[in-house]
Amino acid sequence: MLAGLMQQVPLSLNLVRERVADLFPGKHVTTRFKTGIHRAIYADILDRAARLANFIHGNGVERGSRVATLAWNSHRHLELYLAVPCMGTVLHTINARMTASDVAMLLAHANDEMLFVDRSIWDVIGADINLPPCVRHLVVMEDEASEVAGSNFPAGVVCHDYEDAIGRCASVFAWPVLDENEAAGLCYTSGTTGEPKGVLYSHRSTTLHTLACLFADGIAMRERDVCMPAVPMFHANAWGFPYAALMAGADLALPCRQTDPASLVELIEAAQVTMATAVPTVWLGFLSHLKADASALGRVSSLKRLPVGGAAIGQSFIEEFAKLGIDVMHCWGMTEISPLGLTNSARSKLDAEELRTSRTAQGLPIPGCRLRIVDDNGMRCPSDGRSSGELQISSPWAAAAYFNRADTASDSFIVDEERTWLRTGDVATIDPNGFVRIVDRAKDLIKSGGEWISSQALELQLMNHPYIREAAVIGRPDPKWQERPVACVVLQCDTPEARVHFEEQFRPYLARFFSKWQIPEDVLFWNELPKGKTGKTDKIALRKNISADLPLGSANYAPPS
Ligand code: AMP
Repeated sequence: MLAGLMQQVPLSLNLVRERVADLFPGKHVTTRFKTGIHRAIYADILDRAARLANFIHGNGVERGSRVATLAWNSHRHLELYLAVPCMGTVLHTINARMTASDVAMLLAHANDEMLFVDRSIWDVIGADINLPPCVRHLVVMEDEASEVAGSNFPAGVVCHDYEDAIGRCASVFAWPVLDENEAAGLCYTSGTTGEPKGVLYSHRSTTLHTLACLFADGIAMRERDVCMPAVPMFHANAWGFPYAALMAGADLALPCRQTDPASLVELIEAAQVTMATAVPTVWLGFLSHLKADASALGRVSSLKRLPVGGAAIGQSFIEEFAKLGIDVMHCWGMTEISPLGLTNSARSKLDAEELRTSRTAQGLPIPGCRLRIVDDNGMRCPSDGRSSGELQISSPWAAAAYFNRADTASDSFIVDEERTWLRTGDVATIDPNGFVRIVDRAKDLIKSGGEWISSQALELQLMNHPYIREAAVIGRPDPKWQERPVACVVLQCDTPEARVHFEEQFRPYLARFFSKWQIPEDVLFWNELPKGKTGKTDKIALRKNISADLPLGSANYAPPS
């Protein structure tokens, strides 16, 4: 091999940090807390990130150790996004919508040493959480409440107030030179299965993904943009948008936890947001709000671009926004791929009709991603726009394994002579122009308002209920949340009284194990659940039977066995 003679600059997030310091110290970060708007410039963020790094380092957290966050989208979370990976520790962002026991399970699985938590989240889970012994420090960030930290904290953990802690530290930190293959971040794909699957991003993968977000046919983030990631910063690094905005030198607008339409309108106006991203559920509410209130429309006139992903969108979604002068770009991705894989912005080969219909496809692979569809026998399907198969992806920013889960290797990854392919669990077609369209989901999960609900975990608890003989949980299309879970059950002793009693009981029963938003909307009683060839419940058949016009929740409903 003849080695190239180029500089060995590691692809680490320090490239992002240095670029912001060199070029964009005066760009803005606007956070909208419930209590009011907070404004900072990137120079403030960098100063505070250095203090934060000194605080973390000073408390004995070593390179490679995990630091967890339970936080909404705020300037403080952005400081953690910079300080934790750039100092060589690993940022583990935990889903703030999980139950206390799920959070504790993830803290233990990741072996987190420090937990940074927004006060508003701690107020919800603090009383119930049993922190695992690995967590030595708890740092509370006052987001909505005005009290100072100090109450209701577990024994055996050193508690700190964020502002006090960083205020005491120096604003100069000796940032280390990192190896580009060192771990930078950790995200779990689903915390409710009882089997967490952690995706451990490297500096290299996150830096390359950040650059990919700047491609013109990708997200096309630019210096002149004001970017509002309304997707949570605990969900796949807010789709990579905060790092991309920092790298591009764009301003950032962070909505904290408030993604209701009125709050978003206020932030868009305050920060003059030009591009924003969130799951379709958020934008559907936003759209209705704009249609109902002409003055709101005037307040969001700076908003021009919406890259939307997380769930499929339809033609009318795109057209309704186009009428308001807002260009929707469909995207697809997943936590395992950092998360961006497909964007729908290539246009030149399409005639007008193709252009119209193709925009609901999830799009073309962004440069650096290679995709293929594969049938049940592992054979590659043709790109004819009709043949469907499991979507598999190979990319420098796609996972090759899950963190400490060697048992998942054969189910989730395929290693051939040349490369590793990640099995996405999505079923897709690819047309001759290369446009990928997701047509089904093979993985047994429900996605509601952008967050996963594990059918398996719900089924397990339903099966533990003394009334239940068989249970299956499936997703039902929902106009607001895109999908909501519905439980299909067979009772041990099927009488009208037992059905009524179970209908009354199942929600409070499940509330002992799940967050409210994860509990099925309805229960459907069956004489017997349909089975596939292997004897397993045939969920495709169940889904076909659950059309919107069935009398869901009716105690009398029982399809013929
Ligand atoms: P997550 O890892 O939570 O970001 O979820 C990734 C999954 O969300 C994908 O594997 C798909 O099942 C689904 N998903 C993401 N984007 C889209 C989209 N544009 N259309 C349909 N499904 C999507």
